[in-house]
Amino acid sequence: MKRLIFLGPPGAGKGTQALILSDLYQIPHISTGDILRAAVKAETTLGIKARNYMDAGELVPDDLILDLIKERLSQTDTQKGWILDGFPRNVSQAAFLEKLLQELQLAADYVLNLEVPDEILVERLLARNRKDDNEITIRRRLEVYHQDTVPVISFYSDRGRLKAVNGNNSLEGVTTALKAIIDQT
Ligand code: ADP
Repeated sequence: MKRLIFLGPPGAGKGTQALILSDLYQIPHISTGDILRAAVKAETTLGIKARNYMDAGELVPDDLILDLIKERLSQTDTQKGWILDGFPRNVSQAAFLEKLLQELQLAADYVLNLEVPDEILVERLLARNRKDDNEITIRRRLEVYHQDTVPVISFYSDRGRLKAVNGNNSLEGVTTALKAIIDQT
């Protein structure tokens, strides 16, 4: 049973590493960014509401995300565990998740924080060529990250739950470091 929360700035490689580990440990990869992008593409009610926030590099409002996560974590495939990527992204989402997991009588095993310096992130994001990856949006996403998401790191470190991993390393190097922590127990 592995329940993992991935934290880290945009461009840290959370999605890439989450996919690799999801395959390795055979647990679902739950990416709120992927869920939202699929909703935008399919022009669902959620997608239509989320789109402008995403294009501007802002977080979408919590009321669009919280029910979605609750529903996703209640599906049967999550019994073996999961990797959360892109959630929680602010302290109110983190508090919501704590409460939800208590209700489900679960606790996350590890909160893994991928650390990468800002100047490297901008380079990586510009190279990625996603629709919301232009320089202005990228700078805004990094600002929002520092303002809203960095406090989530303290939320978990205050509770003694955080494990930091250097994300400024080769893809394989990062995977190895993550596995070493996850396999500890
Ligand atoms: P990145 O790869 O840059 O970290 P994601 O794919 O995780 O980005 O998310 C893309 C966009 O989706 C974010 O910029 C934000 O607008 C929205 N988003 C994703 N997850 C959340 C969340 N938990 N709360 C609010 N907005 C979110």
